[in-house]
Amino acid sequence: MKTVHVSTGKPYDIFIERGILDLCGEYVKRLTTAEKAVVVTDNNIAPHYQWRVLNSLGKQNIDAKPFIYKAGEESKNLATISELYKMLADFRMTRRDIIIALGGGVCGDMAGFAAATYLRGIDFIQIPTSLLAQVDSSVGGKTGVDLPQGKNLVGAFHQPAAVLIDPDTLNTLPDKFIADGMGEVIKYGCIKDGQFFEFLERENALEHIEDVIETCVSIKRDVVNRDEKESGERMLLNFGHTLGHAIEKIYGFTGMTHGMAVAIGMVMIARAGEERGVTQNGTAERIKSLCEKYGLPASDRATFAELAEAAAGDKKTSGSKINLVLLKNIGESFILTIPLRELEEFITVPSNTAEETNPYGGNTTDNLDQL
Ligand code: MG
Repeated sequence: MKTVHVSTGKPYDIFIERGILDLCGEYVKRLTTAEKAVVVTDNNIAPHYQWRVLNSLGKQNIDAKPFIYKAGEESKNLATISELYKMLADFRMTRRDIIIALGGGVCGDMAGFAAATYLRGIDFIQIPTSLLAQVDSSVGGKTGVDLPQGKNLVGAFHQPAAVLIDPDTLNTLPDKFIADGMGEVIKYGCIKDGQFFEFLERENALEHIEDVIETCVSIKRDVVNRDEKESGERMLLNFGHTLGHAIEKIYGFTGMTHGMAVAIGMVMIARAGEERGVTQNGTAERIKSLCEKYGLPASDRATFAELAEAAAGDKKTSGSKINLVLLKNIGESFILTIPLRELEEFITVPSNTAEETNPYGGNTTDNLDQL
């Protein structure tokens, strides 16, 4: 078993172990005061893992109920949260009790938000079952739901009591979802760890998945420890995300997964950095090759103007300025704040100089089919 300690305001541990799903009751018993638990999960995950978690809780005499919602980002809204509050209240959950998030990023965000707000805050435990959630969204304490106006517009910082990661849950994931998580994995190498990036280039990450998860959550832990509420360094975790979110928005959050969009965003911003002379030449090409190695697209048809416009509405933009995460080289990142009106110019790379590696020449539909 691997353990990564997070020393945020409320410290907690991330436990990585094959089969840990069946031990979750023991962890709940050891780490919390819970007598009752509500296990939040979706209708795709429930048939695979729900009974294992409920059994494990039952063995520790924890009275547990499942809350099952329809899988997908469409469920991540206040209507689902209302239903969940109703179950928590009807079940007479108290501040001693616990919510368990069993699922991917949507599940962790919603269950965490309910835990942050029900009775002004109760404990929750993350059991992430997707690679994206295991390496990224389950760590850091961000919780929330979407509004019709945009993603994650309502939420809270609420750290879990623990994160239990069972790499075996990845065995049942379709390749597309593994690729989705690899976008964030590659991001960690880009922003903080050149050696890890080389490891991903050299090896097959999936054959070393426990090490990969440990490295990613350790990098995220280090960043979050230093900047829990995202006022500075934590912004580095948004590498590739400003343009990635813009791409997701252009696609209406369907068809294009988060990891795919981030992959494209990383290549684009690295190329822009090279063009402006702040990023070492060849960086974008290396990121592109690595993304493609793990089944991610590195290009899209959206124009610079469309991207700049979509990015301008991102909640990460502050007023008339936008924070861009750029690389000096692989493993070394920094934040550059530019006026929002200069964004389009900044990301525009003349197509003649970028012919070989033009990130805009590809066809995303083809890439989607490959996935
Ligand atoms: Mg992300």
